[in-house]
Amino acid sequence: DIEIPESHPRYESLLTRHRIEAGVEKGITSQQGLIAQGRGEAYDYLLGEETIDTADEAARAAAAHLLLADHAVLSVNGNAAALVPGELVELAEATGADVEVNLFNRTEERMEAIAEHLREHGAEDVLGLEADGRIPGLDHERAKVDADGIGDADVVLVPLEDGDRAEALAAMGKTELVIDLNPLSRSAQTATVPIVDNIIRAVPTITAHARELQDASRDELEGITDSFDREAALAAAEDAIRGGRLD
Ligand code: ATP
Ligand code: MG
Repeated sequence: DIEIPESHPRYESLLTRHRIEAGVEKGITSQQGLIAQGRGEAYDYLLGEETIDTADEAARAAAAHLLLADHAVLSVNGNAAALVPGELVELAEATGADVEVNLFNRTEERMEAIAEHLREHGAEDVLGLEADGRIPGLDHERAKVDADGIGDADVVLVPLEDGDRAEALAAMGKTELVIDLNPLSRSAQTATVPIVDNIIRAVPTITAHARELQDASRDELEGITDSFDREAALAAAEDAIRGGRLD
């Protein structure tokens, strides 16, 4: 393990890179995942590496959706597993959501390695290995999900999802909560709730809101989901990235 001094001005960014690298070494993150991380970091740099107000509001709306769901599923890919495995397990516990491994470049080895990694971080049941369900409109490998997991879910959290699959899930009528640092990404654009923030910050933020809303009534939760304005949140994130936050 490398030692990164916490005083380093780019501590969080270096730690993130290290986790992704370790994920590749462990066989849970794909080489493509390294490129995706690089794209994300560029946007995070422009956002000031902080959770902007509209991202916090989106995280709160996402928490309310997860608490209102009949069946919520957190979709986990190789980057999410490398960066926030324990944090995803905590979010699942705080909201009663299931956890499902769901890969763009699916191989049985990587599916197994990620499921095992999540179990090491406290996950009890990890879905995704049965792959007995399909997302309509996608080619065979990309379409695979668990019938009793994402296939059955009414609310799905998809961090860093590929644009095509995000669109196909939305077309199935699912409430889609997306974490993506690029507000122009098709994933963010098709989301019911786009959370434009680093997954490292976003997942603990959703969990904190879920805990705070634990005893809220359905009316109160519905008030939060109904008043969330996705267009305004996407526009605010784009403004921040384009330099609006400097004025
Ligand atoms: P499109 O959605 O426009 O079709 P894509 O989804 O194919 O593009 P990728 O590079 O595969 O593009 O997707 C990676 C996405 O994940 C990027 O939009 C990037 O901003 C985002 N991303 C990468 N790392 C993180 C992170 N740590 N936190 C949040 N988002 C991230
Ligand atoms: Mg995308």
